[in-house]
Amino acid sequence: MEAKTCERGRILYLAIPCYNEEEVLPETAQRLLGKMEDLMEKNRISKESRILFINDGSKDRTWELIEELHEKNPIFQGIRLSRNKGHQNALLGGLMTAKEYADMVISMDADLQDDIDVIDQFVEKYYEGCEIVYGVRSARKTDTFFKRFTAESFYRMINFMGGEVVFNHADCRLMSKRALDELENYREVNLFLRGIVPMIGFQTASVTYERQERFAGESKYPLKKMVGLAVDGITSLSIKPIRFIVFLGGLLFLCSILMLIYSLVQHYLGNTISGWTSLIVSIWAIGGLQLFAIGIIGEYIGKIYLETKARPKYIIEKVLR
Ligand code: UDP
Ligand code: MG
Repeated sequence: MEAKTCERGRILYLAIPCYNEEEVLPETAQRLLGKMEDLMEKNRISKESRILFINDGSKDRTWELIEELHEKNPIFQGIRLSRNKGHQNALLGGLMTAKEYADMVISMDADLQDDIDVIDQFVEKYYEGCEIVYGVRSARKTDTFFKRFTAESFYRMINFMGGEVVFNHADCRLMSKRALDELENYREVNLFLRGIVPMIGFQTASVTYERQERFAGESKYPLKKMVGLAVDGITSLSIKPIRFIVFLGGLLFLCSILMLIYSLVQHYLGNTISGWTSLIVSIWAIGGLQLFAIGIIGEYIGKIYLETKARPKYIIEKVLR
């Protein structure tokens, strides 16, 4: 292993997206600093390694705190997005900036719910030759039943829909510069990193850890954002929903033939008035289904619309280096 260590670049960057994280940032910075210094002492990473905070348009003192940290110790660096662009875009902004200086980049949440001791394992896997290392949550003991249930159904749903995601892996991972250069070529605007990263390929590994409780502040991922992420994940990865509609349409067509026979029989028996119920029922069923189908098709058309516009995913206002 030692021989291999010398072959690979040793500059590590941590990319930490922050949205209204003033409560956790000082503690997070201290803990990450300790971890980085420890790794530098053990000579596992280069002295040029850095901790990069991405301020995703926070409305509190997050950016001021990042500036203070940078002034005190240049190991802390910061990027400030021009406004709130969401976790996925902020993270991509950080990764694309870090890869210009780093040999490997680890992304983590600002609340350190992901155990920072996985950093050591990530780095070892990188030296063993991995281009991507996934952090996988082994247990979700501290999550509420609701969060655990929705999150796990989310992974199952995406896999069922044909997307390829690593079960219970969120955006805590190591990517080498090489993998990040490839990621840059995925030019889609509807960003779901967890679905895109596995498409890159290369040698990968998974490392498991226990997910902790957020030590301060509250979740920046309310149900609304979670559902948005799930919808984006599914519709940007797969066209199975459309196939499902086609299948449903066929099934309904078969049913309507049965209904036709049934109503003809009723007609010749002279009970036509009783057909009113089935008529009303089928009007409702078809109306509902059509609306649902149009909605899903609209979702895809909306995506085509955005892709053709090729809007920039983020705009960096300032860089602290
Ligand atoms: N985050 C972000 N922009 C947003 C929402 C969240 O950069 O619009 C960051 C947030 O600061 C944190 C990470 O995304 O570092 C994950 O958010 P959070 O911990 O609140 O999500 P949860 O762990 O509850 O799913
Ligand atoms: Mg969190």
